[in-house]
Amino acid sequence: MAGRRSAGTAGTAGTGTPPVAVVTGANRGIGHEVVRRLAERGAHHVVLGSRDLAKGEAAARRIDPGGRRVTAVQLDVADDASVAAMADRVTRDLGRVDVVVNNAAILYDTWAQARSADLDEVHRAMETNLFGAWRVTQALLPLLRRSPHPRVVNVSSEGGSLAGMTGGTPAYSVSKAALNALTRLLAGELRRHGVLVNAVCPGWTATDMGGGGRPVPEGAAGVVWAATLPDDGPNGGFFRDGKPVPW
Ligand code: NDP
Repeated sequence: MAGRRSAGTAGTAGTGTPPVAVVTGANRGIGHEVVRRLAERGAHHVVLGSRDLAKGEAAARRIDPGGRRVTAVQLDVADDASVAAMADRVTRDLGRVDVVVNNAAILYDTWAQARSADLDEVHRAMETNLFGAWRVTQALLPLLRRSPHPRVVNVSSEGGSLAGMTGGTPAYSVSKAALNALTRLLAGELRRHGVLVNAVCPGWTATDMGGGGRPVPEGAAGVVWAATLPDDGPNGGFFRDGKPVPW
């Protein structure tokens, strides 16, 4: 495992391995706070995905200076090889995945409109916001399916709600609407394996992307809620603060 102590040296390989949560785009913003909260709850070993490993390691140290509960791993969700390498390392060093939080996203294109959008920009948004979540989930699915309580959280946005779309932010909105569709498909297909798959809007949150809004812990809370649902929790839903959001 890249970074500080490997899961193997944490004594978590083999029997007695604690549940493992993988969070993408977790070196800053909501993803970082989700890692913090999952680690502080103490029930999970958390894999902190960061496309820049040095930033990921620094972020992991801020949460867990002793390096027992959080492991940084290089992860660019837009890069097949990076995702495959992450899945290999998690498989080898931890041997299980119980929670996947697809948080990484880009391109809140407030400057653009659908009628004149730069389609290269839309492609880039899709590559990270949709295909990134899709390839990470596919790569970790063999491990997820072996989990007794598997959960997938797709961090979406009300900007992807078809019910609320009136124009603007085309790359971001289309990519999040597609992520919502993926959420429904995976939820239906994986139901019989006990995997709960939900989309969560964190609400307008004061991160680099948000540029204002509510405190990061408030935005992260609904994501953690979906990541830690009981077995009889919802599947295939779209939520903010634990309450349904219109599709
Ligand atoms: P930030 O811009 O603060 O953080 C985004 C994170 O995603 C960064 O860690 C960034 O890494 C990472 N990232 C971007 N591209 C990739 C990639 N290809 N591979 C891996 N990581 C990547 O955003 P937020 O924390 O605000 O957003 C988190 C989630 O919440 C997103 O899905 C966003 O769409 C959603 N959301 C946010 C809202 C808000 O108001 N903040 C509102 C609604 C939804 P790096 O540092 O390397 O760039």
